Amino acid sequence: MDRTIAQNISSKRRTVLKSFIALAGCGSAELSLVRYAEAKATKTIPPKEKLALNKAIQGTVLWRGDADYENARGAAVYRENKPKRFPEVIVLAESDRDVMAAVRFARDNHLKVGRRSGGHSWTSPHIRGGAMLIDLSRMQDVTIDAPNQTLWTNPGVVGSRINAELNPLGLIIPTAHHPTVGIGGFVMCGGFGWNSRLWGNGSEHILAIDVVNAEGELIRADETQNSDYLWAARGAGSGFFGVVTRIQLRAHPLPPVMKASVYTYTADVLEDLFTWARNLVPQVPPYMELVIVSTAHDPKTGAWAPVRLTVAALALTDTEEQADQALALLETCPVVSKATFRLVGKKTNLDERYTSGYAADPKGNRFGCDNMYTNASAEELVPKLRKLFTDLPSPRSHVFWLNWGPQRKWPDMALSVQADVFLGAYSIWTDPAQDEAMEKWPVEQMNHLSSLSVGGQMNDENMLAHSQSYLSPHASQRLEALRAKYDPKGVFLSYLVAATAV
Ligand SMILES: Cc1cc2nc3c(=O)[nH]c(=O)nc-3n(C[C@H](O)[C@H](O)[C@H](O)COP(=O)(O)OP(=O)(O)OC[C@H]3O[C@@H](n4cnc5c(N)ncnc54)[C@H](O)[C@@H]3O)c2cc1C
Repeated sequence: MDRTIAQNISSKRRTVLKSFIALAGCGSAELSLVRYAEAKATKTIPPKEKLALNKAIQGTVLWRGDADYENARGAAVYRENKPKRFPEVIVLAESDRDVMAAVRFARDNHLKVGRRSGGHSWTSPHIRGGAMLIDLSRMQDVTIDAPNQTLWTNPGVVGSRINAELNPLGLIIPTAHHPTVGIGGFVMCGGFGWNSRLWGNGSEHILAIDVVNAEGELIRADETQNSDYLWAARGAGSGFFGVVTRIQLRAHPLPPVMKASVYTYTADVLEDLFTWARNLVPQVPPYMELVIVSTAHDPKTGAWAPVRLTVAALALTDTEEQADQALALLETCPVVSKATFRLVGKKTNLDERYTSGYAADPKGNRFGCDNMYTNASAEELVPKLRKLFTDLPSPRSHVFWLNWGPQRKWPDMALSVQADVFLGAYSIWTDPAQDEAMEKWPVEQMNHLSSLSVGGQMNDENMLAHSQSYLSPHASQRLEALRAKYDPKGVFLSYLVAATAV
């Protein structure tokens, strides 16, 4: 560790926060790790100052110890295994003005600022001890400009609501497959959504943002003004140096055809299945999503059942022929005759897709998550997959293979790590006594495959427990330079790693 940093962290002046960054290679020579750490803050805000904030905010201000504080802290996190980290104050903002007043207060009182849109991040980087949490979930405006195929939305709006408003106008945007994920975190972390392999991930859909900066000023950022903010908003996730209060997104004409196929296999054919899937990557058309998910629960009772490997594909196309042709690729699997269930080319719609997304990760559960991207060949990768896909820690837990390649060239933006295949491990449980083991499980699975990883995907990040690259070296360096320029005093919280998990 850098000596100056170490001295700062061990300094007796614990109220002085110091951030540091270490750039270190990991797994791939082309990628580097961005790590941020902030020393623990102990805050005592005098009652007079507290009153001043309460008066300045039109929405609700909840100080630690207030009656509704714990409800608001819990509601800011989707999962039931709420972090044991306690912000000093939660501001439930109702307007840009609230956000500006809150940031100015935080700056003047040396509170770091965390931001919550939909609260679905798996490790909740916005919940940090001694900090201010600005919760944007009460701001719920969506304004659609149908002729120009664009819209403005507050970041706390859930993706499914935006599509519910767009679809009758013949438009669609990529959102998370789960209906209650906030559009803010989804697009700022990258975002793999509907037709993202064709249209681009969520970040590529951001045209402009309104941001409250470190001085508490509201600014607009687009390609022509404050464009550094736009560059960072497209993929920096929790490393972004501002509070985004409004996002302008590009929409697409709603494809007239949406068809899905599902094939289920037993684990006996696992190696044949994944060898086929890995070698198929170059042929998968961009308008088809292809995933393989392992699960081990009885869909009716939720009890343990033998592991099933489900190959699921969704095609969003202009014609039925195009969809059928794409879905026919699933028939090329060499073990297709062994499928225990087959649903081929079923017409579907977004409502059904969101319902199915919700069913995989329903509210009321405790969740753990980790992920990696890999370009490993079938020969390197497949021998390592049996344990990952079959050794599930609970009936509802699942492991996810997403066909991401052939990779598109991305525009210059903070989002900068991708590979042919995405692997995600998700533990799901309800008993708090299992928290430690269940939270560890996804990380252990990814560590087992780390030699084949080229880095991680920001949306499903677990930097708290797993150090890997989430940005390219170029993007890491540029992001850090921008943060130093636009937030020199470190008003905004950055990535949540073990050292910052207060
Ligand atoms: C059940 C479930 C299903 C999911 N499905 C998908 C999927 O299909 N595809 C996919 O790509 N991802 C998916 N995700 C991951 C999800 O996209 C990310 O966790 C995303 O960050 C969540 O966005 P949010 O707004 O709900 O979360 P939040 O937790 O509110 O935001 C995430 C982080 O982004 C930063 N941030 C949020 N809002 C702002 C803001 N206004 N200004 C500045 N910084 C901000 C904060 O640091 C915050 O901690 C899923 C997650 C869950 C829990």
